[in-house]
Amino acid sequence: MNILILGPQGSGKGTQAKAISQEMGFFHFEAGEILRKVASKDRKIKEYIKKGKLVPDEEAFRIFEKFLRRQIKRSKGIIFDGFPRTISQYQLLEEWLAKNDKKVDIAFFLDVSEKEIIRRLSARRMDKKTGRIYNLITNPPGKEVKKEDLVQREDDKPAIIRKRLESYKRHTLPLLAMLEKKKILWKLNGEKPIHTIRDEILRILKTR
Ligand code: AMP
Repeated sequence: MNILILGPQGSGKGTQAKAISQEMGFFHFEAGEILRKVASKDRKIKEYIKKGKLVPDEEAFRIFEKFLRRQIKRSKGIIFDGFPRTISQYQLLEEWLAKNDKKVDIAFFLDVSEKEIIRRLSARRMDKKTGRIYNLITNPPGKEVKKEDLVQREDDKPAIIRKRLESYKRHTLPLLAMLEKKKILWKLNGEKPIHTIRDEILRILKTR
């Protein structure tokens, strides 16, 4: 089963994708995480991320495909978090899945207001040692994480957040409209508590 989790930055995609993948035994595909790793060795990718711009579709897909190739055979399901973000990325994914006799089965959209997104992203912190993402308000780190290791991601600063949101509106909203037309999109209120959203997603997945 191949599941997409879509929503603006800070909507909780990563948190839900992690919880669902653990519960269902699926592979959690984290696009941002993969690109951040590649960026540590590739200056061009690093610049896109720093500026809050999307890595161009073909280039991003070339990177993602290498990871997916390894997972598609061995995983009973994949949860896509942060990819696809554009119609063109969706088409690349759909074609690639079809070659592997698979398809996108279902997509979830976490709907969160812009005001809430800015509030959440300003409170988001990354553990610089592990790369794990926390939120001082909704998902605080445990005692094992040292305060001095928690940093704010450069691209979570207000000017870049605005750019990322613009990019989301321009590129990802049309993708949502397309998935809605295909009748594979479930809209969820992303402002509900984390466990409520998780239970709702699991309930929907278990009826399929
Ligand atoms: P995220 O952690 O998901 O917010 O992603 C961080 C950054 O990685 C984004 O602002 C983009 O620069 C890049 N990125 C993540 N996912 C994609 C994608 N599917 N396509 C292109 N660029 C991406």
